[in-house]
Amino acid sequence: MKIRPIWITGDPVLHQRASEVAEINDEIRELISDMYLTMEKAPGVGLAAPQVGVGLRIFVYDYNDGENHYRGEAINPTLELGPISQEWPDEEIESEGCLSIPEERHPLKRALEATLRATDLSGKQYEIHATGWLARIFQHEYDHLDGLLYADRLLKPYQREVKKAIKFEGWGKPNNTWMPGEDYLEP
Ligand code: ZN
Repeated sequence: MKIRPIWITGDPVLHQRASEVAEINDEIRELISDMYLTMEKAPGVGLAAPQVGVGLRIFVYDYNDGENHYRGEAINPTLELGPISQEWPDEEIESEGCLSIPEERHPLKRALEATLRATDLSGKQYEIHATGWLARIFQHEYDHLDGLLYADRLLKPYQREVKKAIKFEGWGKPNNTWMPGEDYLEP
């Protein structure tokens, strides 16, 4: 098991649709165990395969809402969403960040409910009806599999701020990565 570098916005792998996993083999098992470790070290509550440079439809999540601990891998997932409010997002409670746009956080409306259907490593199908922050995590990670970053969904003023940060950091082009445990030590 090893920590993998995390790809930063601008690399094509983050901006194109990922492919279905055809078979759960040793390569996929190794990828997923690396993704758990990388997510833990980042640290993050979710990580999608394109973020470690692999264009496959897989994400992992690890989130404790105080009552339940949700940890798992979603292979070839589908996500069914509840309605999304058209109101202006709340900067205090609706700001999210992304390991592929380090150190930025901006508010975004998401569906308050989402049903995830996916396959786990053993090949078993499962379903989770998520609400609140877990539903947000699922939407954020699922978007990665379709080549979408949360920055792509932000309202204009927030999107401008992200673009400025990306330009300032020299991101927005291929092959920029960072290494959990070495860079960006302060979350
Ligand atoms: Zn992300």
